[in-house]
Amino acid sequence: MAIIDNHIHQGLRRQLKEELAAKGIHDKRVLEAIGEVPRHVFMDSAFLQFAYKDTAFPIGADQTISQPFTVAKQSSLLEVKPGMKVLEIGTGSGYQSAVLDALNCKVFSIERQKLLFKKAKKNLSKMKTTVKVFYGDGFKGIPAFAPYERVIITCGAPYVPDDLLEQLVDGGIMVIPLGEGGDQEMLRIRKVRKGQYEKENHGVFKFVPMLPDKQGI
Ligand code: SAH
Repeated sequence: MAIIDNHIHQGLRRQLKEELAAKGIHDKRVLEAIGEVPRHVFMDSAFLQFAYKDTAFPIGADQTISQPFTVAKQSSLLEVKPGMKVLEIGTGSGYQSAVLDALNCKVFSIERQKLLFKKAKKNLSKMKTTVKVFYGDGFKGIPAFAPYERVIITCGAPYVPDDLLEQLVDGGIMVIPLGEGGDQEMLRIRKVRKGQYEKENHGVFKFVPMLPDKQGI
């Protein structure tokens, strides 16, 4: 099925881009990518009026599509360059993956909820992205395709998973919302080399929790 992306959607996206710029997103390439990716494709069609509002929104299975500001902020913090291999934990709707794809990254994304995995896979291929979506436990990463130049976690992590640090190249960057409960601190971690990391804190955000392996579903 082809995607419908008309002048109304495009106009709403232009407004969203301006709103995000006014809220402090300065990375031009990230704003361009937000301007390109049809966020409404990743939400049920009944919710079109919410697709370009700067808010998170339910996508089923008790999960949400991240707020555009959060997607833009995490994408900016990642400092991606075209062609980089990026591992995303928490595919959810697939929107963040599509934004990274628009930034010309090679995206590998993993989701633990089967329903969302299937939906996201369908939407991402409808949009003709090259994102590879996996069903599984993000705490373990995707060792088969490691190492990655960037790792982005899009759920609230209780701790920094060792396997994910392991799968990051030396000099690579991980962006991770760290903390249990309502609030997370957005950390950017640079892996200098194994065992040596530099951390920066980029403020408080709210994410759904990163949960352990979901067996048998
Ligand atoms: N990047 C998504 C955000 C979705 S919300 C988007 O753009 O829409 C976070 C997602 O992380 C949820 O779909 C949730 O099911 C998933 N998640 C939580 N714990 C996980 C884990 N251990 N492994 C993989 N995905 C996980």
